[in-house]
Amino acid sequence: MYIYETIQVPATERKVIKKILCDCCSKEISKGLYSAFESDLHFKDGDSYPDNGHGKMLTVNFCKKCMKNVSDFVESIAPNVKWEEWEY
Ligand SMILES: [Zn+2]
Repeated sequence: MYIYETIQVPATERKVIKKILCDCCSKEISKGLYSAFESDLHFKDGDSYPDNGHGKMLTVNFCKKCMKNVSDFVESIAPNVKWEEWEY
């Protein structure tokens, strides 16, 4: 037999992503239900040791239009960069 009591569960707050804005044109980055669009650009530099690490990190979010401009630019300065097919 289970004997129950009512207990208070404190309300919690947490930060969740409400929307993502393009860091270039400030438009909201929306994606459709079946879209696989991802366009985060990360740059991280610093030092990493077994128990800690430190440094700087830059994260940039691009909408599809701005990401196309960025990828065109990257392809123009880095001819060895190639698009790869993906599937799962
Ligand atoms: Zn944009």
